[in-house]
Amino acid sequence: MGLFNKIKKLNIFSGLFSVDEDFFEELEESLILSDMGMETTLEAVETLRERVKERKIKEPEEVKACLREILVEMLAVGEPGLDLSGKPAVILMIGVNGVGKTTTIGKLANRLKADGNRVLLAAGDTFRAAAAEQLSVWAERAQVEIVKHEEGSDPAAVVFDAMNAARARRVDVVLVDTAGRLHNKQNLMNELNKIRRVIDREGESSSKEVLLVLDATTGQNGLIQAKQFSQSAGITGIVLTKLDGTAKGGVVLAIAKEMGVPVKYVGLGEGIDDLQPFDPAAFAEALV
Ligand code: GDP
Repeated sequence: MGLFNKIKKLNIFSGLFSVDEDFFEELEESLILSDMGMETTLEAVETLRERVKERKIKEPEEVKACLREILVEMLAVGEPGLDLSGKPAVILMIGVNGVGKTTTIGKLANRLKADGNRVLLAAGDTFRAAAAEQLSVWAERAQVEIVKHEEGSDPAAVVFDAMNAARARRVDVVLVDTAGRLHNKQNLMNELNKIRRVIDREGESSSKEVLLVLDATTGQNGLIQAKQFSQSAGITGIVLTKLDGTAKGGVVLAIAKEMGVPVKYVGLGEGIDDLQPFDPAAFAEALV
């Protein structure tokens, strides 16, 4: 079972079944209930029908293998890993409050450090009281550096300082935290744009990633959030948190299809080690 042992198998595969018309209908229902979304479900089931026919598949085990193959194909969008080629590499972390952004930054910092990188955190959420404090706690846990300013200060100035510190201290990766909420959505998007411009200006030789953090337990709502952010932020990947909870997981497929960006990491708990690179094959195995 491994990585995704909390993901619930699709209902239809919990017992015996035969490959007939009822099967396809029940599969559709099962996939929709797993948060995969209507459109993505219909596409997957249609592809499965075609392949079952083409390959004259009759055995349930073969159908399962075929469905896994289709799910893995649907998940193959964008670049799977992080581009850390630049000096410093910059990872901008975005997402609404409560999804697990701060926790994810801590976990990711820990991972990158363990891989031999010098990591610096930029406390770009200056709006929420205690956001920088919370990030400092994670910086300490992961034993990485942090640049922070006072609450209410300009996040673009924090990022400017962080980029300069990174150059001076030969930092490999800068992880930038951002606000998850401001007075209104337009303010938030303007602020993200401003931060991006500072990163572009100060990081001429930087590689850039923009990771959107989504809470898997919010299902299809996560997708709506993702679309709103992607309009202004140019997302390169998703981190899906709380897959250890009650999440049904199918939203991963809906994200891949509707956003065209890969899930790069998954959060599987609250601890510092509970972040793993997303493995499509293992995920399909857990679901089917
Ligand atoms: P932020 O507001 O987006 O920065 O969210 P936080 O990082 O403060 O996390 C909100 C809550 O979700 C905290 O209680 C975290 O411990 C919890 N959390 C974050 N990631 C995960 C995860 O992958 N699994 C579980 N079970 N809880 C998580």
